[in-house]
Amino acid sequence: MRQPRIFSPEPLATGREVRLDTGAARHLTQVLRLRPGDDFILFDGSGRDYEARLLSGGREQAAAAVGAVIRREPPAPLEIHLALGISRGERMDLALQKAVELGVASITPLFTRRTVVRLQGKRLEARLAHWRGVIRHACEQSGRSRLPGLHPARPLGEWLAGFQGEGILLGHRAHTPLPALDHPGRSITLLVGPEGGLADDERDLARRQGLRAVSLGPRILRTETAPLAAIAVIQALWGDFGQGPPGSD
Ligand code: SAM
Repeated sequence: MRQPRIFSPEPLATGREVRLDTGAARHLTQVLRLRPGDDFILFDGSGRDYEARLLSGGREQAAAAVGAVIRREPPAPLEIHLALGISRGERMDLALQKAVELGVASITPLFTRRTVVRLQGKRLEARLAHWRGVIRHACEQSGRSRLPGLHPARPLGEWLAGFQGEGILLGHRAHTPLPALDHPGRSITLLVGPEGGLADDERDLARRQGLRAVSLGPRILRTETAPLAAIAVIQALWGDFGQGPPGSD
């Protein structure tokens, strides 16, 4: 049976003992019913998986002994950064979860003119914590050992003002199809609008900041579909879809 993989916010090292937070403790002891002495896998987001043994566990807390490194995740051939207009609850969760499964390196949630979700102060903090949980679970499930970064949520204009590098603006009205682009080099940033799309002046500003407008075909994709389709195409063209898992046939 596949061993459970659990994220540790505490940095790991062979021979250490770590305390696991409430979420991990509950998952291991209540859902998976692990008992002291049982083995599982721990990762801290830095690219390594460690053997781990449960030392003690309850509803609120658990402790584990960290064993040897059993897997190292190679660096991605292409870093994909996703800048995503904030959409309503489940759509945003789905987009984040699938983007992590597909190998995105970092995510920046953006407030745009047509973002309908109002998030400030404590509500924003709570939503960011929730998104970090979505990202962490997607890593646990998909076997990723590098945790994608979640940048602070920012207004689109502010994010664009500091933008540098190779970027694409996704939109169904763009003339250039995504597969027609040249190899982006080491990293690429995707900008995707929220449910209502980006306003004309926001798209103009993105182009002035050097982002290239590209399309994923003539159909209007939902805000949660567009990043997934784009990341899959990019991974197939220039990324790691051509690589198997370490040690595969
Ligand atoms: N009515 C909106 C508009 O005209 O922009 C539709 C927005 S769509 C639901 C949300 C986002 O998905 C868009 O801002 C765009 O970034 C992306 N998107 C949707 N369809 C696309 C396509 N065919 N090609 C590229 N990006 C697309």
